[in-house]
Amino acid sequence: MTDPHTAVTTDDSRGFDPGDRDEPAAADAPEHVCEDCGRRFYTADLLVLHRGVTHPEALDDAERDAYREAYAAEERAIRSFRIRALGILVALYFGFLFLYVVYAS
Ligand SMILES: [Zn+2]
Repeated sequence: MTDPHTAVTTDDSRGFDPGDRDEPAAADAPEHVCEDCGRRFYTADLLVLHRGVTHPEALDDAERDAYREAYAAEERAIRSFRIRALGILVALYFGFLFLYVVYAS
């Protein structure tokens, strides 16, 4: 099973040949590399989260604090998404309910 936090792997042994696809631009190449397993990530936050989940024993105090901050930020973002998604569902529910009341009566 693959790590869901992984943005890009360096595993080239899958036999995937992109054929006529161009090489990605240098700006698109992931530049944050895990020093323990060599996986590459597009953002520093993804690397911090990966190291906290996959290599927790290798973290020093500063990395552990960065992981906690990134984890808390991720939790806030997920909670915000859930609240907005619930609001949209409630608005759709009552919107269709009122449409039904108006047009079906
Ligand atoms: Zn790693």
